[in-house]
Parts: sequence; C-alpha cells; structure tokens
Amino acid sequence: MCRRPACPTKSDNVSGDSTEVYIQIVTSGGRRIPVHANILASASPVFEGLIYRPRKHRSSEKTIPIAGVPCDAVVAFVGFIYSGKCSEEDMEKYGMHLLALSHVYMVPKLKSRCAKALIERLTIENVVDVLQLARLCDAPDLYLKCMKLVSNKFKSVEETEGWKFLQTNDLFFELEILQFIDETESRKKMSRRHRREQRLYFELGEAMDCLEHICTEGCISVGPYDMEPRKNKAPCNKFSTCQGLQLSIQHFANCKKRVNQGCVRCKRMWQLFKLHASICELPDSACKVPLCRRFKMRGGEELKNKKGEERWELLVKKVVVARATSSLLMPKRKRVEEEPVPASCEEANDNHNYVITNLVC
Ligand SMILES: [Zn+2]
Ligand SMILES: [Zn+2]
Ligand SMILES: [Zn+2]
Repeated sequence: MCRRPACPTKSDNVSGDSTEVYIQIVTSGGRRIPVHANILASASPVFEGLIYRPRKHRSSEKTIPIAGVPCDAVVAFVGFIYSGKCSEEDMEKYGMHLLALSHVYMVPKLKSRCAKALIERLTIENVVDVLQLARLCDAPDLYLKCMKLVSNKFKSVEETEGWKFLQTNDLFFELEILQFIDETESRKKMSRRHRREQRLYFELGEAMDCLEHICTEGCISVGPYDMEPRKNKAPCNKFSTCQGLQLSIQHFANCKKRVNQGCVRCKRMWQLFKLHASICELPDSACKVPLCRRFKMRGGEELKNKKGEERWELLVKKVVVARATSSLLMPKRKRVEEEPVPASCEEANDNHNYVITNLVC
C-alpha cells in the first residue's frame, strides 16, 4: 500500500519547463511515480545509463521498474534523490531497503546515511539480517559493526531466527562469521598476553631502579656497607616495590639453603642481581650492587643453551626499554623527607636486622 504522493507531483509535470523530460518509476505495488529524467540521471549513474542508453536497448521508453521493495521505500528513495534528505521515520521503517536501493542505483550519500542509521539501530534480533545485507551491499563499516556485535553476543545471537535461517541457508557465510569470532578471540588473547608481559617488564625495570637505589643510597632496612643506616628515614617513592626487594635481600643474606639447595626466593633474587649486571653500565669499581662484577666476568656461561641465551637477551632488552619508557613518564626518584614517617618504617628503622649489601655468594 502506498501512503503518500511521490515527488514531483502531477502538477509539477504540467507547470514545469516544457523542455524537461519526465519518466515514471513503477513500484512493485504498481504505483507510478513521475520523476524528472535529468534529476534521476544526475543522482545515479545507473539511472543515467537506463535513461540515456540507445533507444533500441531500452526496455521501456518512459518507465523504470523498481521491484522487490515496498512501495513507500521507493517513494522515500525518490524523495532522497530530490531533497538529499530522509526522515528518521523512513529510516526506521525502510533503512534496510534504502541501503539496498542506494547500493544498486549507486547513490553513495544515501548509502552512508543508511549504514550509519542501521548501525544505530543494531540489535541482537536484527544483526544477522543486517550483516547479510551489509555483505551483499558492500558496506564495510556496517559489516564490521555487525560482526563485532555477533562476536561479542554470540550466545544470544545464536538463539535468533536470523542465525538459524543463516545456518540452514548459507554455510559459507556461517563459516566466515565463526572464523571472525575465532580471530577476534585470539587477538584479544594476544593483547592480554602482551599487556601482561609489558607489566612484567615494567615491574622488573622498577625492581632494577630500586636495587640500585638500595645499594647506593640505602633504604629503610637495607643499605650499602659504607653508609650508616639513617634514623627516621622516610620511605622512597617506590616503596611498595622497594620494601619487597629489601625483604628479599634480607632473606638472601640469611637463607641457609640459598640457590644451590633450591630456595625459590633466593633463586629469584639471584636472577634480579644477574639482570642488574646485564644492564649495568657502571665500571666494576663504581657499582655497589652485589654480584654485579661476578656476573659480568662470567658473562653468559651460566646459560646452558643458545635458546636460553637468546631469551635472556630479549628479556634484558625489554627491561631496558621499559625502564627508559617509565623514566620518561615518571618524575625522577625523590625522597619525601618532609612527610611523616609511617609506623611500619619507624619499626624498620629500629630493626636491628639492617642488612648491608656487600653480600658474598
Ligand atoms: Zn627504597
Ligand atoms: Zn632462600
Ligand atoms: Zn652494576
């Protein structure tokens, strides 16, 4: 059922310029919509071809049939060709038909307007239908949005009529969608893994900063052998990492099992000392970090195979980069002397277990 007059009206026909050529669009409901040939032709190369191609090939002199879409969708389509506008109501009702028409008759402005409108109106229920249309009409933005929605809400989409229909009618498209979901999942996994790795490199970079700070300036409970522990010292600005590291150094200094007898905590501390030696650029006599000289002398001999050596070198590189990046992002290490000393630090200052870092292993 057609509900409204098309554009132009019959009166346009008689009152207009006598040189203008009118043709009629015939809808599937049998409605005839009179239109200016030149306006139709200038809006769409497809209409242009239909209107101006040699007469012997023309199917009908004065009519162009547009079938397969509701009559009012064709009216809205012609309205857009004349005004460059389309009401929200028409978009709501005929957005999918208008997308198909804009694709078939090559009206790019309407096509992008429809794609945007359909993206705004995507739901679990309609996404499979819209996706199929986006694929047919070569609308990449709409296609991608639909794929993402299907991928993110697949459990619900699977229950829709649209999906069930697709499963029975288009096996290849179903495979295409499942493959997209798979790839999205593995991309997500990879980026989660990448973030985890980056966090680890930053943590190691911070541990390296703290290790140097502990061994040169001294912190609450561990400091260099040539420096007296200072009373009422305030925590440094990376104290959460620094404190853990100091506890590990204290443990390393006192542990009976050490690395050789399989103490995991000592092994980790040993690796941190070794990592320091791998990135330390100070001459041996100037570096106060324990074991630095020893590791530098032994080089990579501890790494049993080439693969292990390569992995270690990669780790060292990543930590160096993470450290450089964080030093650009963060202000320089500052002691907060004026701040009140937290109770836990006062306790640590009174702690008689203050460890000096001239460890011999
Ligand atoms: Zn500290
Ligand atoms: Zn231990
Ligand atoms: Zn060093």
